[in-house]
Amino acid sequence: MPFNLSLAEREAAGLKRSLPAIERVDGRCLYAGGRQYLNFAGNDYLGLSRAPELLAASEQAAHQYGVGAVASPLVVGHQTIHRELEQALCDWLGLEAVMLFSSGFSANQAVIKALPGKEHTLWQDRLNHASLQEAGLLSPARMVRFAHNDMAALERKLTPNSGLIISEGVFSMDGDTAPWPGLVSLARQSGNWLMIDDAHGLGVLGAKGKGTLAEQGLEASDVNIFMGTFGKALGVSGAFVGGSRALIDYLHNLGRSYIYSTHLPPPQAAAVLAAVRLVQQADDKRDHLQTLIRQFREGVSGLPFTLLPSNTAIQPLIVGEEHKTLELAAALKHQGLWTGAIRPPTVPKGSARLRITLSAAHTKADVQQLINALHAAL
Ligand SMILES: *Cc1c(COP(=O)(O)O)cnc(C)c1O
Repeated sequence: MPFNLSLAEREAAGLKRSLPAIERVDGRCLYAGGRQYLNFAGNDYLGLSRAPELLAASEQAAHQYGVGAVASPLVVGHQTIHRELEQALCDWLGLEAVMLFSSGFSANQAVIKALPGKEHTLWQDRLNHASLQEAGLLSPARMVRFAHNDMAALERKLTPNSGLIISEGVFSMDGDTAPWPGLVSLARQSGNWLMIDDAHGLGVLGAKGKGTLAEQGLEASDVNIFMGTFGKALGVSGAFVGGSRALIDYLHNLGRSYIYSTHLPPPQAAAVLAAVRLVQQADDKRDHLQTLIRQFREGVSGLPFTLLPSNTAIQPLIVGEEHKTLELAAALKHQGLWTGAIRPPTVPKGSARLRITLSAAHTKADVQQLINALHAAL
């Protein structure tokens, strides 16, 4: 047998993963094993996954366009609903052009594998998402990682006019934000390009939910490549890459995961379009989410876990050891609270954590229940 499929070692180390049998889930609740849980593990930060506007848009588009796109975008898949969504994204975020992908993972692959050649360098924050790191390893460019959010470390490693700096808006496993004014000025000074993956900032931060750049007083045009996903605060699935018309034309020609993949299903594009419209007017939801974030942070401040500096929906509690993290998650589950136990290699060794995520769909009473259960679990 050419492959060793044993998972015994991973299991002994508390690292074995298995699919939980979820019956259904939304921003607030999760159903599994015939039981209802409060969901503190998802990414539906504004509770849009079941918004009536999204359901109606998707149903209407299914009747008008069918449930599948029928082809990849460059063949015959790119339809009116896709162009409407692209235009809405450009208008919302102030982008010249965008293109759509069925997932953030493939969006990052398209950009990072198509753009740099072997003479180029990619500088990535050490905590960048796996989809960014992996695309970097597969690209012909040299990949250099810099210490998390450390602008002095990045500056020391930069060479002029030679590549692309990549960071996340909000870090997916830590919930903190990158220092974008610093990144923008380093990119300008060194003559390098800059890319943001704002999967977790989009919809949650900034005026009109425009994301991390807006929150920090910057514009989309301050970066060369703006990537965002539809599977988090927008409540659907899929992603976009935005930038100059020339960049998008280039990626239409050379982004392999765009060219060789069936286009976004029209009902999905329509649901995202409805979400883009809702999100811009969702200040009440964003305010409520911020109230819950403050409530949670105050409520757990006395506990013996490290709370990371996050003002976003992602509020991890660093436990450290893998088995202890699993035990804590199990104790919470027993009380009807579902949290994510995140272990290496998703996060660095020794920093296993509960990845607690809050949503505007939660109530203050829901968050209080979580705080009480965390105190009781010790
Ligand atoms: C979720 C995520 C992705 C991947 O997006 P999908 O649409 O889920 O494939 C990429 N980057 C970051 C930072 C993410 O959190």
